[in-house]
Amino acid sequence: MQYFLAIIGGGPAGYTAAEKASKAGKDVVLFEKNALGGTCLNVGCIPTKSLLYGAKQYYNASHAQKYGVSAESVTFDFAAMQKRKTIVVRKLVAGIKARLNNDHCTVVNGAARVLDSIRQAWRIECNGETYEAENLMICTGSTNFVPPIPGIKDNPAIWDSTDALAATELPKSIIIVGGGVIGMEFATLYHELGVPVTVIEAMPTILPNLDPEVVQILLDKYRKAGIQILTSTKVESIDGNTVSISSSSSSTSLTSLTADKILVSVGRRANLQGLEALNDIELERGAIKVDEFCKTNLPNVYACGDVTGKIMLAHVASRQAEVAVGRMLKEIPLQRIAYNAIPSVVYTNPEIASVGLTEQQVRDFYTEMEGPAGIEKAGGVETFYEVKKLPMTFSGRFMAENEGETGLCKVLIERRNRTIVGVHCIGNPCSEFIAAASFAVRMGYTEAEFRQVVFPHPTVSEILHETIV
Ligand code: NAD
Repeated sequence: MQYFLAIIGGGPAGYTAAEKASKAGKDVVLFEKNALGGTCLNVGCIPTKSLLYGAKQYYNASHAQKYGVSAESVTFDFAAMQKRKTIVVRKLVAGIKARLNNDHCTVVNGAARVLDSIRQAWRIECNGETYEAENLMICTGSTNFVPPIPGIKDNPAIWDSTDALAATELPKSIIIVGGGVIGMEFATLYHELGVPVTVIEAMPTILPNLDPEVVQILLDKYRKAGIQILTSTKVESIDGNTVSISSSSSSTSLTSLTADKILVSVGRRANLQGLEALNDIELERGAIKVDEFCKTNLPNVYACGDVTGKIMLAHVASRQAEVAVGRMLKEIPLQRIAYNAIPSVVYTNPEIASVGLTEQQVRDFYTEMEGPAGIEKAGGVETFYEVKKLPMTFSGRFMAENEGETGLCKVLIERRNRTIVGVHCIGNPCSEFIAAASFAVRMGYTEAEFRQVVFPHPTVSEILHETIV
């Protein structure tokens, strides 16, 4: 039998593609060597959020006095939190299995390997069987990057995020190498459960890709709460539980630190195993290069998700898969991905949520477009865009539910057409309303158009409306 589509990898990209193509009546074979759902569902987004929610419950109960509630002897059971996490994951994996349960979709549990392409069909081997398909989609995801720091390899004190999620006991103390998204989410989890946390970040700030003003609010809060955050600090080597560091900032005079565990979260790299036969496939910075429809340079070969190295987020992966399958099915009109309107959330406490361009990106864009002479003639790069800001405390609902907390909503508007090009928020629960801002950025709303949208009162989402008014 020849399939219409063979997909390697059953994460958000792979299962979305399998569902869409099979529901369109096309025969699909999906290969997954572990569990359906990929990193996001099994060892990423969902387990982290399950544990973070448990930690937040404990933290809120322990700090309920500020709301006039006293809860004495609040305790937690980390093993029970882990058990609940496993049940959540299991149910969601079962949900994906159910979504793929149709006559046109075959799921094969095993590690697939591309063999070759003959007579316009791609041949794939899995569990000793050979499969043929007209189209091939690579959705093999990414794995934790292990930096070349002496002392990391085979060191039982070292964890990656998968180890941390699997641990049944909390570490007594933890050093987190890398203050990116994974690092700061785990810092939140451990801190809220009472574990002493140190974060070591090589760049001058944590979360270096986010709006610096928003990040500063988190940094101030976390430092005040007792999380040790060392920026502009490099790990030179690791010996057992001891990390030797060198710092180019005045934030520390320390030269070494010791902790029970050391979590290394310094980025992820594309998974290219099983694809060795595709030696002509074009790569870009170690990831598979794709066009706007997620097509690679090889005929009928697509790639979606982390393996493309574009933006390593589950919702980008699933959108890429929709677009790629749409292209295969020759859907009219053909859809493209709006990479300029991808929301992202960091599940710290408070949460950070953003969509669209950062202020730095807006400045870089205009500087490149206008050139130094154009910028000078205009009277500075700021003349091309406007920043509107409001503290979260402007929202009644935020005040009611976030005692003692601060937050910020920042909107970037380009001056010529008054369109909204970026929104950056910190404050709970901004993860739940950033979609409204995504809608505005994606559809190119002007501030006047956005003002016509009625927001329910009292909700924290009103801050978007208030900031733009
Ligand atoms: P990241 O790129 O977000 O952060 C890595 C951080 O490590 C950076 O700040 C970098 O400057 C720092 N770093 C690199 N080398 C270092 C070194 N030797 N010493 C100290 N610091 C160093 O990567 P991540 O946090 O590992 O996350 C991987 C991917 O997973 C990201 O693309 C992220 O967006 C995604 N992810 C998303 C979510 C979410 O959407 N909430 C959650 C987790 C992960």
